[in-house]
Amino acid sequence: MPAHAQVLISGAGPVGLLLANLLGTANIRTLVLDKRELPLESSMAIGVTPPSLEILQRLDLDQTFINAGVPVRYAEVHESGSILGRLDFHRIPSDYPFFLSIPQARTVEILRGNLARFSSVTIQDGRECVGVEQDPGGVRVSVREVGTGNASQANAELLVGCDGHRSTVRAAAGLRVREKLYAQRFVMADFVDESRLGLEARLFFSPEASVESFPLPGQWRRWIVLASPTHGVTPLQYLIRAVDRLVGIDLDERGARFVSTFGARRMTVDRYHAGRVVLAGDAAHVMSSIGGQGMNTGFADVELLAALLPGALRDPALRPRSFSTYERIRRRAFVVAANRAERGMWLGTLRGRVASGFRKHFIRDVLFRPPLCSRLAPHFAMLTIPFRNLNHVPREQVF
Ligand SMILES: Cc1cc2nc3c(=O)[nH]c(=O)nc-3n(C[C@H](O)[C@H](O)[C@H](O)COP(=O)(O)OP(=O)(O)OC[C@H]3O[C@@H](n4cnc5c(N)ncnc54)[C@H](O)[C@@H]3O)c2cc1C
Repeated sequence: MPAHAQVLISGAGPVGLLLANLLGTANIRTLVLDKRELPLESSMAIGVTPPSLEILQRLDLDQTFINAGVPVRYAEVHESGSILGRLDFHRIPSDYPFFLSIPQARTVEILRGNLARFSSVTIQDGRECVGVEQDPGGVRVSVREVGTGNASQANAELLVGCDGHRSTVRAAAGLRVREKLYAQRFVMADFVDESRLGLEARLFFSPEASVESFPLPGQWRRWIVLASPTHGVTPLQYLIRAVDRLVGIDLDERGARFVSTFGARRMTVDRYHAGRVVLAGDAAHVMSSIGGQGMNTGFADVELLAALLPGALRDPALRPRSFSTYERIRRRAFVVAANRAERGMWLGTLRGRVASGFRKHFIRDVLFRPPLCSRLAPHFAMLTIPFRNLNHVPREQVF
């Protein structure tokens, strides 16, 4: 372990790894610790939006991501068998006129592989951060080696908690959260793609159920279904039946992987920082994953943080102001994204004939008509999120 890192990152998920890469380009001595001993297998986030591709471009990784993923240029919305509208991402004002579908495990793999370029960055797996102490000299992290249970200590000038929604760093720094659990639950699985839906995303609504479907690289496709209490069927069987009923596609149970059921929550910290500790990504905030914005919001968090940390390291007097700026900008972006995710999930999960009739009218006759229709694709591409990345943060607000 380096004797004294300038920045210690707890958590090598997508957000911690992006931060490590950005700090690597600034030659900052960085230590990344993750409690995981083996790579993430499940798929989780798949949607990487244009503002995130702009961030990845700064690392020369945009093309690597595009080659490893599927650019999704159209999304079609159906209600009870009829097409309500079709989103076309071709004309969005971005160098990346699509959202990229790429499994989170692959995102992590690419970001991790790229760390080899930076001699200033060290990463260690199987190391769990279990405690944090701060004093005027720095921050001390108690570390537990997962394989052996051995205890050790890591020192740094600053600690960034990128350790996900159950963040130990957050708790150890005494930062509290506000949390709301949503009632909706979902079943999700990836299938070998024999759907003939090509490279398009599809949303299917009906009074009884909702189904979302996205292409994945390597001839796979993800299916997500709004769950109901199931009687005598497994979640996978429930998903297959719902897709058959609503979409008319007969999925093969044997071609499924990463089957999971999940709920949705909204969570945010009261403060993003305490002394030498600062939070980013899911450690700081969680929004409904329906809408695909959580990881993208975390990417923009750490892009801003990476721009502020060199100054905060050089001049400790700058730290409180830098961290407050970070919190103000990133909290605003989170609130807008989380509100959208909440409204989108609400609309997409309405059940019953009356509610479904309202949704049909609203999507077809309001959202897909002028003046809103021209704003829909930029909205889903996260181009209308305030401070969506550093290119869209006025310089006088940061430096
Ligand atoms: C079903 C689903 C679909 C989603 N789809 C999308 C999508 O399409 N687009 C999108 O933008 N977002 C999506 N999200 C959200 C996205 O997955 C999260 O926002 C993202 O994983 C957050 O990244 P992170 O690095 O902050 O945290 P995490 O991915 O949770 O990573 C945290 C890391 O910290 C490590 N860790 C935890 N505790 C410790 C500790 N004490 N010490 C050391 N290491 C520790 C963990 O092992 C892990 O590697 C989805 C989420 C779900 C559940």
